[in-house]
Amino acid sequence: MRAVVYEGPNDIRAKEVAEPALQDPEDAIVRVTTASICGSDLHVLHGLMPKMETGTILGHEFTGVVHAVGPAVGRFRAGDRVVGPAAVWCGCCRPCVRGLYGACERGGVFGSGPLFGGLQGAQADYVRVPFADVTLQPTPEGMTDEQVIFAGDILPTAYSAVTGLNPRGRGVQAGDSVVVFGAGPVGLCAVACARLFDPKRVIAVDVEGYRLDMAVRLGADHVIDASGGDVRAVIKGFTEGWGADCVVEAVGLQETLNNAVAVAAPGGGVSVVGVFQQPVSVNAPRMMAKNVSLAMGMGDLGRIRELVDLIETGRLDLTPLITHRMRLDEAARAYEIFDTRADGAIKVLLTT
Ligand SMILES: [Zn+2]
Ligand SMILES: [Zn+2]
Repeated sequence: MRAVVYEGPNDIRAKEVAEPALQDPEDAIVRVTTASICGSDLHVLHGLMPKMETGTILGHEFTGVVHAVGPAVGRFRAGDRVVGPAAVWCGCCRPCVRGLYGACERGGVFGSGPLFGGLQGAQADYVRVPFADVTLQPTPEGMTDEQVIFAGDILPTAYSAVTGLNPRGRGVQAGDSVVVFGAGPVGLCAVACARLFDPKRVIAVDVEGYRLDMAVRLGADHVIDASGGDVRAVIKGFTEGWGADCVVEAVGLQETLNNAVAVAAPGGGVSVVGVFQQPVSVNAPRMMAKNVSLAMGMGDLGRIRELVDLIETGRLDLTPLITHRMRLDEAARAYEIFDTRADGAIKVLLTT
């Protein structure tokens, strides 16, 4: 089969590899129909993923058709269309029972190397999916791959950010002012998800004009170009001097974290889903003085079904994020476009 393979830092290529086989009774083999490239794939590409092994197939965002199932799989059979999760979890270990699927003792993230379970990725013709009954979700009849593909990764991350991360974050409530730092794929999904909760206003902050335009398209009331001027003062102006009740940090930089804490209103919450490459500090005295809570963590993949339902009923539509559709063979070029944000790139799909 064809697959996008990591050959070393800044070296990926589409090539022929062996097809995966069922290994455990709970496994399914999914024939991938559409995959997409995530920001975390770029971390791998750039050699920032510790212990990454050459020969690993990349990718963790995918939809497809069930090809084969192990004897313990009961919910699916060959021919079922499914949307895959970015990571798998067993559903019954101690973290899983608490809803912390990202910390599953037997889980892993597709295509992310031995540090994350050593699973092969989904930018391929076929992928092996452990714990298929727990982790796969059916694609409802009549829905396209493009409608549901983000329900497995960036959308649950964004949805978790605006609903308060597990455990105990402060989610968006009706009448809130919401600020989203970062209008990349996750931040843009957060803008769309925030709208589900009847906020007073949603403000998106980024440095790329075309991404801010997309934020408006997905429901932002105001956008701020962070490259020019005092972001904190502008947010204060938009919020009657009060600040933001819910802030989403979807960048992963010290500066944006500082801004997120600074613009949070008294009693507000900051949800951090940006991926930091190193330890950062927070302004603890300021947070304490304002009773600002800070939550951070991985998206709750247990909500994929809920998100597919929201898409099916038309309350969420992330298809505008898809700016590029390419073939799996064109992966090297596709990664380059996504990485350099060439040609207004936001999400790049790979079809098999
Ligand atoms: Zn991802
Ligand atoms: Zn588990």
